[in-house]
Amino acid sequence: MAWRTVRGIIRDSAFPGNASVIHGITTRPLGDQKSAPNRRCPSGVRAFVLAEQVHGARIAWIGERFPRQFIPRTDGLFTREPGLALGIFTADCVPVLFSWPEESIVGVVHAGWRGLSAGIIGKACRALLRWAGKKTLRGLRVAIGPHIRSCCYEVSEDVARVFSKPGIAFRDGSRWYVHLAGEVKRQLSEGGLDPRDFSEAPFCTKEDRRFFSYRRDQDSRRILTYIFQK
Ligand SMILES: [Zn+2]
Repeated sequence: MAWRTVRGIIRDSAFPGNASVIHGITTRPLGDQKSAPNRRCPSGVRAFVLAEQVHGARIAWIGERFPRQFIPRTDGLFTREPGLALGIFTADCVPVLFSWPEESIVGVVHAGWRGLSAGIIGKACRALLRWAGKKTLRGLRVAIGPHIRSCCYEVSEDVARVFSKPGIAFRDGSRWYVHLAGEVKRQLSEGGLDPRDFSEAPFCTKEDRRFFSYRRDQDSRRILTYIFQK
């Protein structure tokens, strides 16, 4: 198992593909990361840039200069800037990390059912090709962080029907469930990634009390998923 916790931060050691790329996902003992005093800047980071997160499909490229810490109307952030950490908050939604060592690009996307239904992961794949000026995503690595898995992600029939592709929404008796990571992986595959290029955290945030879970706790506490390159 490549996912390990050190000092309250979970990482997938098999993910980034480059020792200069640092990522992490906070756990409950580090507190609610939406509260600024709980956010500790990892060493080597000169600035933290965070997505406002509106459950949309807009992703932003962060250059050397950026307007403010929270990038408005955005659910995904990408950069080439060293020392610039990108972060998103979740409590059940899917944090998706991107590392493209050959292009020195890192990124993170907040993917809930609304963002996924709007194709945010596919959009990220197409934007990466554009930014890199490449025809394929060869060498891109993706890690799907801890989120609410289909065991616990019961949804209304209306939400289930948004996901018409096979294997994403399914029915158990009268209840409907959605496999969020399945949809993330479907969009990655459609974007040209091979399953060997992505990993998935085997934890369900609603069941595993190391994480905050909106479905379980019904509050605003969030974990932080971040990535930067030295
Ligand atoms: Zn579960």
